[in-house]
Amino acid sequence: MPRFVPEDSLASPRFTGPATFARLPHVRTLEGVDVAVVGVPFDTGVTYRVGGRFGPNAVRAASVMLRPYNANLDVKPFELLSCVDYGDIAIVPGYTERSYEAIEREVAPIVEAGVVPLLVGGDHACTLPHLRATRSRGPVAVIDFDSHTDAWDSYFGEKYNHGTWMRRAIEEGLVDVEHSIEVGLRGPLYDRDDWTSLESELGLEYLTTEDIFRLGPAESARRIRERVGDRPAFISFDIDVVDPAFAPGTGTPEAGGPSAHEMLTIVRGLAGTDFVGFDVVEVIPAYDPAGQTSFLAASLAYEMLSLLALRRR
Ligand code: MN
Ligand code: MN
Repeated sequence: MPRFVPEDSLASPRFTGPATFARLPHVRTLEGVDVAVVGVPFDTGVTYRVGGRFGPNAVRAASVMLRPYNANLDVKPFELLSCVDYGDIAIVPGYTERSYEAIEREVAPIVEAGVVPLLVGGDHACTLPHLRATRSRGPVAVIDFDSHTDAWDSYFGEKYNHGTWMRRAIEEGLVDVEHSIEVGLRGPLYDRDDWTSLESELGLEYLTTEDIFRLGPAESARRIRERVGDRPAFISFDIDVVDPAFAPGTGTPEAGGPSAHEMLTIVRGLAGTDFVGFDVVEVIPAYDPAGQTSFLAASLAYEMLSLLALRRR
């Protein structure tokens, strides 16, 4: 059985060669693979700034900095998991539903092969086809890190965009609602019940950014773990949940958020959870002057791999 590991950055400098996620081999195979990192260069679903189509390659370029040992979680993810950079999905620029079909068609075989997909966006609209592709695992407990609910019904009459995927996914029976949670909500809303209706109408629990500051990262993580329990879980990480000071390269920033450190700590605090899928979305390199947003996204993806490795150990 083949095993796929990153290039050794002590044998060839990390800035050499074509950039793949964490310097993993770029292969389109599922045999002998535990995790497939997949780029989704889709940004047709946004409502404000565009440019997320360049996110996957920016995150790849930043991710060459990742090293084999995760000191915070005491784990070497690539020793325990065979990982590949699966390349990008050929989305259809400008056409959301045709892109959704392409994403589902490409990701479903990954899931069905027992490989855990880690998608790098692209805008948040691509989480809906990602969840559709995960359908064979049954409804999943979604942990949505986001400053926005993404549970609106429509935008200018359109049902499929980055602000509606959560509601669509619930309607389609893809979400284990009773064990799902939104984390990090903040910013001005359209109306008073935009957050409370998550619970009253959809049955979703949520933690606001103010809750995170009040509880602290460790207790926030404990609340999330308690909500998810032992269900198959799915992390969707919208980078705009992090304060724009740490993650300026995104499409719909909201002021006054948790730091990179606080959010990394919360993600690490989810160790023990049974994850079946991950995505990191909404990175726009054009607004990312020092590449810090891409690097944070790569680091979050590394923590997700580490969580999976810990669970498999
Ligand atoms: Mn979002
Ligand atoms: Mn958002």
